[in-house]
Amino acid sequence: MTVATSPPLAGELADLARDSLFAYRDGLSAEQSCRLSYARLRRIHEQLGSAVATVRDPRRLTAAMQWSAMLDETTFALLNIHYSLALGTMLDHAGDSPVLASFVAELDDMTSVGLFMATELAYGNNAVNLRTTAVYDPETREFDLHSPDVSAYKYMPNAGLADVPKLAVVLARLISHGTDHGVMPFVVRISDANGLRPGIEAVPLGDKPGFALDNALTRFRHVRVPLANMLGGGLGQLAEDGTFHPVLRSPRERFTAAMGRVTTGRLCLTTAMLACARASCAIAIRYARQRQTFAPGARQVAVLAYRSHQRALFGALAATYAMTALADRALDAYADSPEGPTAATGHLISVTKVASTWAASEIIHNARERCGAQGMFRENRIAGYVGLAQGAVTAEGDNLVLLSLTAGALVGGTGAPAWTPRPGDLADLGHLLNLLRGREETLRAQARSRLVGGDGDSFATWNRGLTTMLSFGQAAGVRLAFEELYRRCRETDGALSRLLCLYGLLEIDRNGGWYLAHGAVTADQVRELPDLIDAQCERISHDVDELVDGLAVPDLVLRVPIGGDDYLAAFAGRHTTALPEPSADLP
Ligand SMILES: Cc1cc2nc3c(=O)[nH]c(=O)nc-3n(C[C@H](O)[C@H](O)[C@H](O)COP(=O)(O)OP(=O)(O)OC[C@H]3O[C@@H](n4cnc5c(N)ncnc54)[C@H](O)[C@@H]3O)c2cc1C
Repeated sequence: MTVATSPPLAGELADLARDSLFAYRDGLSAEQSCRLSYARLRRIHEQLGSAVATVRDPRRLTAAMQWSAMLDETTFALLNIHYSLALGTMLDHAGDSPVLASFVAELDDMTSVGLFMATELAYGNNAVNLRTTAVYDPETREFDLHSPDVSAYKYMPNAGLADVPKLAVVLARLISHGTDHGVMPFVVRISDANGLRPGIEAVPLGDKPGFALDNALTRFRHVRVPLANMLGGGLGQLAEDGTFHPVLRSPRERFTAAMGRVTTGRLCLTTAMLACARASCAIAIRYARQRQTFAPGARQVAVLAYRSHQRALFGALAATYAMTALADRALDAYADSPEGPTAATGHLISVTKVASTWAASEIIHNARERCGAQGMFRENRIAGYVGLAQGAVTAEGDNLVLLSLTAGALVGGTGAPAWTPRPGDLADLGHLLNLLRGREETLRAQARSRLVGGDGDSFATWNRGLTTMLSFGQAAGVRLAFEELYRRCRETDGALSRLLCLYGLLEIDRNGGWYLAHGAVTADQVRELPDLIDAQCERISHDVDELVDGLAVPDLVLRVPIGGDDYLAAFAGRHTTALPEPSADLP
């Protein structure tokens, strides 16, 4: 019954489990943690072999991302930037240039670590307007790469550790003979064994809780970059005399294509976050089975016997399974498009990224809270995932912005005919799916009607539809996740069906007012929902071992004090040995 994206989490990566480099370490400074993450990055690369081969195999790539995220969030971020963004973008736009091929080779064998520099201090979600310039000089056949002012300083690439050789894909405005041709990607050597290259300055940024990446504010001061370093394949080429020959006609199209590998990054981030959600559920549930507490009429019970705990953790488990099934669908669609994702696949990945990272953030937060004080400590892993989840909703397309753009593109499509709600049994999976579909289609139609008309003020029109569009996009993510897990339920056994029913009931409960207002549920059904959810939790409590096993979390990840069969012994083994022997004088 395993539901886990990318099966090869075991296999070749499992060998790394025996490597002490991946053992948990306490008490490191931010810089020591960061250096450890770079060492782990190299070790994973060594194990995987050619980075190009890994990038070209999405299942292998996402498996590596998932495995690394569960063990070290910072190593995951390094992997995603190196493989998905830097190397991926070079492969897409290097064409047949031997110079660019030599840069690809450097990232392939990780002689240099790859960076991706798009965002600037004043240009985040609006990066299309970024202001770093690459002014072409036909006499020297070089670009002059320059940050004109503070607003254009590259904002937060991992350029902080200057003694690590790094090669970046830098997005900058191509200017030739005084004409601005829009944003293009360039390969720029940031640092080598002697530190930062001349003309490049990087100031390390402050601490980010739970995330030790060496992010730095980076500026270019008239850095000379050879003409051959422009990644123009499929975008446009610059002749030696400075004439620009575009392949894609508009600057906006070229920018979107130059940023195309963000889709791969999104998929990697999604599957990695869900791996952390699976690990959080497994650890929190294993702990909750052992952790004792008081109870009316009983001296002690395991906290998992409480309905409140079940609702939180089984609800998290249900969302984890549903979102993992959705991510699998997105991964399949991506893996089936070797020529690059179609628009439909891109939209599916965007909706999946948003739905999954928001869900993972809630799941991880819930799991952390249900572990009480133990959940606060990094050695039990979940606390570390909280920081990663925060970054995940912002990076690779801020969730709100990405969802509004994706929903905006999808509202125009031909939806199903207007939905007529029918009465039905809320414990029936087919009926639950019908309710979720109905909500999605109704919101789609409402959003569409809000986006037409108006008085010609496009921003006011967009704003009028925005909230409904976002609700539509979220409803689409939930429906897709439910649908995908439902498809698997028909192929498997009852435990998964019971879990899916809980997922559906919690989603109806979340939007109970909406369903009631649209006549899709009765007032009695709304009143009975809490009991229905409790009854479902009671049923799932008998399946829980099987469902936790189905998460397929590697033993190495579960090997934390509260993740084993005896947390007291594990905790004592790790910590009380450091205490002095009890003194005979003390009572
Ligand atoms: C962990 C991490 C690693 C990163 N690594 C890199 C990297 O290696 N290279 C790189 O180039 N960048 C990197 N980034 C930067 C990342 O690309 C930006 O964070 C992202 O583009 C969002 O920009 P911003 O953070 O400036 O948000 P802003 O654009 O400042 O957004 C702030 C708020 O405004 C809202 N908002 C913004 N625009 C809109 C809109 N149009 N409609 C509605 N709401 C809006 C957002 O939802 C958000 O809540 C990284 C970010 C993170 C978190």
